[in-house]
Amino acid sequence: MSEALGTNGLVLNEPLLWERGKKGRRAFSMPAADVPPNPLPAELTGEGPDFPDLGEIEVVRHYTRLSTWNFGVDTGLYPLGSCTMKYNPKINEKLAGVPGFAAAHPLLPTALSQGALQLMHDLERFLSEITGLDAVTLQPAAGAHGELTGMLIVHAYHRSRGRQRTKILIPDTAHGTNPASAALCGYAPVPVPSGPDGVILPETVAALMDDETAGIMITNPNTLGLFEENMPEIARIVHSRGGLVYGDGANMNAVLGMVRPGSIGVDILHLNLHKTFSTPHGGGGPGAGPVAVRKDLSRFLPSPRIVERNGVYALSADFPESVGRVVAYHGHFGVLLRAYAYILSMGPDGLKEASRFAVLSANYIRERLKDVLHPAFDRPCMHECVFTDRNQQASGVTTLEMAKRLIDHGYHPPTIYFPLVVHGAIMIEPTETETKEELDGFIEAFRSIVREAGENPQALREAPSRTKVKRLDETAAARNPCLAG
Ligand SMILES: *Cc1c(COP(=O)(O)O)cnc(C)c1O
Repeated sequence: MSEALGTNGLVLNEPLLWERGKKGRRAFSMPAADVPPNPLPAELTGEGPDFPDLGEIEVVRHYTRLSTWNFGVDTGLYPLGSCTMKYNPKINEKLAGVPGFAAAHPLLPTALSQGALQLMHDLERFLSEITGLDAVTLQPAAGAHGELTGMLIVHAYHRSRGRQRTKILIPDTAHGTNPASAALCGYAPVPVPSGPDGVILPETVAALMDDETAGIMITNPNTLGLFEENMPEIARIVHSRGGLVYGDGANMNAVLGMVRPGSIGVDILHLNLHKTFSTPHGGGGPGAGPVAVRKDLSRFLPSPRIVERNGVYALSADFPESVGRVVAYHGHFGVLLRAYAYILSMGPDGLKEASRFAVLSANYIRERLKDVLHPAFDRPCMHECVFTDRNQQASGVTTLEMAKRLIDHGYHPPTIYFPLVVHGAIMIEPTETETKEELDGFIEAFRSIVREAGENPQALREAPSRTKVKRLDETAAARNPCLAG
C-alpha cells in the first residue's frame, strides 16, 4: 500500500460523546454568583436525557476531529467525473465575506443595492460573452433548475407560436436531470442513441426530429468527455423542423474561451457556476445555474430582470411574456459573487488557460492509464476520461471494488457506473487545479490497484480496509441508516 499524502485523510475514528466524559466534569468555570439564584420555571426542570459531563478540551477535540471528516477539495484530489470539483481560490471566499455584500438584505430597496445589482448585471454580461448568447438570467439555483427554466422557456416559445409540442430529444449519455426537467414541463423525453464514436450523429437526429418535437437537450462536451463535433449540423436539423436547441453547459470547463455555444447553434444554455466558475459545492450546498438565451428568446426569461438606465440599476417585472420568477429573491447571491470574482481575477486568457489545463490533465491520466484500464473510446478526451471494466473482467474484479480500494490509498474515488452506456464506467475528471505530482500519485495508486486485481483480487473485495467503516451494504445503509457513528 503506497503511503500517498492524505493517506490518513479518510481513516476516521471517534467515539460518541456519550461514551466519553466523567460525572461532574465541567466545560467552563464561572465565578461564584453574586446574585440570589432564580429557579428555572417548572416546565424546564423535568426529567431530560442524561447528558455526558465533559471537560472543555474533550469537547473541542471531539468537534475539531469530526470537522476533519469532511473530505473536500481542500483536503485532497476529488476526481469526480461530471462534477468539476476544482479548487476554489480563497480570494473568492474573502470577497464573498465583504460585509457590504454578505450582510445585504434581499429586500433592501434598489437605491440602496446599486453595487449588488451592478455586480449581477456585469456578471450577466460576462456570461453572455462567454456563451455567445445575448441575455442571461441569474435566478436558477442549480444546473437542474437551469434546465427546468430552459424547458419553461422552450414551452413558452412554442406556446407563443400557437402550437405546443410534446417531445424532447435527449442523448442516451445525458445527465439524469435532463429527462427529468423535460418531463416536469410535460415533454416526453425521446432517447437519442450516440454513435460508435460516442457522439451524436446528425442522421440519428434527422430520423427522430419531427413537428411534435419541441427541441433537443444536448450536453457539450458530453458526459463521455467528448466534444459533440456535429453540433452545427444537428442544430440546423432541429431548427429546420421548428425546434429549439437546449445546451447543457455543465461541462463548459473544457471549452472556456475556445467554443461559444451560441456560435454553434445553441439557443438556450445553462451554466453551473458551482462547477465551471469555481464556487464550493457538494454536500447539498447552494449552487447557481444561470441560463443564457438568444436575443429573441430573452422576452421569456424569468423576471424581475435587472435593467440599467443611465448608470442606475433597477429590477423590472415589465416582461409580460416572462415565465415568471423561478427563485425567491434574486438567486444565490453569494455564489454569483464568487463567480464574478473568479471571472475577473482569471480574465479571458486565464479562463482559456484553465480549460486547456483541464483538458490536458484528463488526457494525461488517460494516456498513463490506458495500458491497464480500457478507455471507453479510442480518441483523446476533453475534460474527463472514461474507462470501461473490460480489462478486469477476467479477474472478476469490479469497478466498484477498484473505486473502494482507492480510498485505502487516500484518494476520493472517481464517478463510477455513469454514463450508463459504458460498461462498468470509471469517469475521471481531475480538473485544471491539480499539480503533476498529485496526478502522478493518483495514477500510481490506480496502477497498483490494477496489479492487485490480477494478483490478489480478494483484497479488493474487502476494500476499503483502512477506514473506520469498512465495506457497506449500500442498499441496507440507504434503507436503514445508522446515524449513531
Ligand atoms: C452536474 C450536472 C447537471 C446538474 O447540475 P446540478 O447543479 O447538480 O443540478 C446537469 N448536467 C450535467 C452534464 C451535469 O454534469
